[in-house]
Formats: sequence, structure tokens, C-alpha cells
Amino acid sequence: MSPVHVLHDAPLAPLTTFRLGGPATRLATATTDDEVIAVVREADQTGTPLLIIGGGSNLVIGDKGFEGTALRIATSGYALDGGTLELAAGENWSEAVARTVEAGLAGIECLAGIPGSAGATPIQNVGAYGQEVSATISEVVAYDRRTRETVVIPNAECAFSYRHSRFKADPGRYVVLRVRFELEDAGGMSAPLRYAETARSLGVRVGDRVPAADARRTVLALRAGKGMVLDAEDHDTWSAGSFFTNPILTEEAYGAFLGRVRERLGEDAAPPAYPAGEGLTKTSAAWLIDQAGFTKGYGAGPARISTKHTLALTNRGEATTEDLLALAREVVEGVRDAFGVTLVNEPVTVGVSL
Ligand SMILES: Cc1cc2nc3c(=O)[nH]c(=O)nc-3n(C[C@H](O)[C@H](O)[C@H](O)COP(=O)(O)OP(=O)(O)OC[C@H]3O[C@@H](n4cnc5c(N)ncnc54)[C@H](O)[C@@H]3O)c2cc1C
Repeated sequence: MSPVHVLHDAPLAPLTTFRLGGPATRLATATTDDEVIAVVREADQTGTPLLIIGGGSNLVIGDKGFEGTALRIATSGYALDGGTLELAAGENWSEAVARTVEAGLAGIECLAGIPGSAGATPIQNVGAYGQEVSATISEVVAYDRRTRETVVIPNAECAFSYRHSRFKADPGRYVVLRVRFELEDAGGMSAPLRYAETARSLGVRVGDRVPAADARRTVLALRAGKGMVLDAEDHDTWSAGSFFTNPILTEEAYGAFLGRVRERLGEDAAPPAYPAGEGLTKTSAAWLIDQAGFTKGYGAGPARISTKHTLALTNRGEATTEDLLALAREVVEGVRDAFGVTLVNEPVTVGVSL
């Protein structure tokens, strides 16, 4: 079976939200699961490198592009049965969220506005405003390139953690075909709000429920104010969202970090700190970047920090991937020099590294 659409020497930049990256030797667009599997099998049989692309909103592709087959997943399918939702990998995530809210269901309403495809959501366990997909995904249907079979992986075997999963840990092994969710019928109300900023904006307390449509609308407004909803006219959104994950520090590393913070900012300085499991503390990458002197809008070149959010690196229109990486490296080094913490990039890099 041949895919619907194959291009040669195809530019990949237009398929990414950064609008960056060189061409792929071959770009296939698959609109059914069978087509996805056929393209993957062919690449594997011929030893051709394969790059899976969903919405391209978490990808940094090198200026030289990709030597191999880029496979764009453009499958569709939204099936709701009670609280059970099955999404084809190619479904637009944010539109699917809107539909579940319209259907009166709760569980993913605070994940509205996250760009990209449904199939990518388990990869880094997408999360925002107090929700993560790991809380509602029941199982992931994927093509396993090692066993050459379609497998159903239950939530408990997805190894979900903060911006991480079994799929991210073993890149290249699984191609997600479908994602199944168990959503809650709370009579049109949201799940209990877990994020202080959302609760504050809605005039309620953390733990309260509000109409799910209100939660979604509020999250979208908060996100838009930070340049976190795609808008082709706004260069602050030519990004991959947060460029760095929030560092998680062991007790010892946190102690050393606190020492550096107080040395630099004074004895009363208190960095953001959240419990992140046994003996672990999560701090804020945005705070670190800002305190190290990289404030909103930082940068003189075509790649700069967003004017709305310190954590988003952006393409102002004329940037190359090398410009973006130079800025990212400058931020990593600056934060390391200031606080001894090494930031890790959240987006997936292709043919390049920090
Ligand atoms: C403005 C903006 C805001 C954002 N806000 C958030 C946020 O709040 N929270 C958050 O978690 N993320 C956020 N992101 C990052 C991004 O939107 C998510 O990570 C999203 O899930 C990526 O989906 P995608 O389809 O665009 O993936 P892509 O960028 O196309 O791919 C990302 C990775 O997943 C792999 N992949 C994609 N589809 C599949 C598949 N079907 N099977 C196997 N592998 C696959 C790719 O090979 C690649 O390694 C934001 C990005 C932007 C641009």
C-alpha cells in the first residue's frame, strides 16, 4: 500500500511551529493507520531513518534537514462512548479537548490550547494548568517497530512521569496510532482545579470544580496572554512552548542550589520549590532564566526569548536553527554559571543537539 502523498526533498520548516529546519529526503503523509504502518515498515525494511511528525510543535529540526523519510501523521478519528474517548494520532489535540468539554466531560479541559496532535500527547505526558494526560489516558495503541506488531499499552505500562514516558525513553520504537482516555461525567463541571492561577482567575479555590467550559475558556485566556496559543501573526508563538523542563533536584543538589541562590540574591531569597517525590524538589526553569538575567524579549538576533514568557525561545521570522541553538546554549550556560543547575531542553531535537 502506498501512502496518499509523497514528496521528495521536501521542506520541513513549514511543518513546525518554529518554522525552522531543512528538507527531508522524502516526506510521506499518511491518513490511515494502515498507511502509517506501511510507511514505517518500508523504512525499517530498507534501513531508512524515519522521523515521525505530528503537529511539529515540539520539534527542533537542524538546518541540514533530515536524511530519510519524514512521516507526517494525518489520521483522523474521534469516537466518544460514554466517558471513553478514542482519538486517532493525527487528530488535533486542542480541538478534541473542545469537543469533550462540549460533551460535558471532565479531565482534559485544562489542556486546551496545547498545539499538536493527540498521538504526541503521551510522548512527553503533556501537561499544563494542573492536568497531565497521564491522569486520563487508559491505553495507547501503537505500532512496535521492534516486534513489528500493533500493541495496546495500558496506562500502568506507559511509565508516565513529568514530561516523560516510556515512549520518550525509547525513541524510535513506538509509533502511536490511537490514544484512549477515560473521562469523567461530572454533569458539565470540570475536574477539581489543581492550579492556583486558574482557580484565582475563576474566583474559586484550588480543589473546587467550575463549569468545564469556564475552566477551558480561562486556561485559553491565560495561555494567550503568555503567547502559548498558536497565532501565525504573533512571533511570540513561533516556538515549541516551554523550551526547558523544570529542573528536579535531589536533596543534596537542592541544598547546593539554595546556597548559590542566597549567595547571589541575598539570604532571604527563596526560589520556587515544589515537592516532586521522595527526596526530590522541583524548581522553576522560568525563574532561573529570569534571575540569571535573561528576561522577556532577551536577544539581539532573529531568535529571542518571547516578550510574553521567559521560558519560550522564539523565531522572530528570519532565524535559523543554529540561531535558536546559540540562544539556547547561552541561556543554559548563563543559568549554570549563576546557579549551578543545567537546564534540559523539552522539545525533541533532530540532527542537532544543545
Ligand atoms: C505555543 C506552544 C505551547 C505549548 N504548550 C505546551 C504545554 O502547555 N504543555 C506541554 O506539555 N507541551 C506544550 N507544548 C509542546 C507541544 O505542543 C506538545 O509537546 C505536543 O504534544 C506536541 O505534539 P505534536 O503533534 O506537535 O508533536 P511533534 O512536534 O510533531 O513531535 C514531537 C515528538 O513526538 C514524536 N511523535 C509525534 N507524533 C507521534 C506519534 N504518533 N507516534 C510516535 N511519536 C510521535 C515526534 O517524532 C517527536 O519526537 C507547546 C508548544 C507550543 C508551540
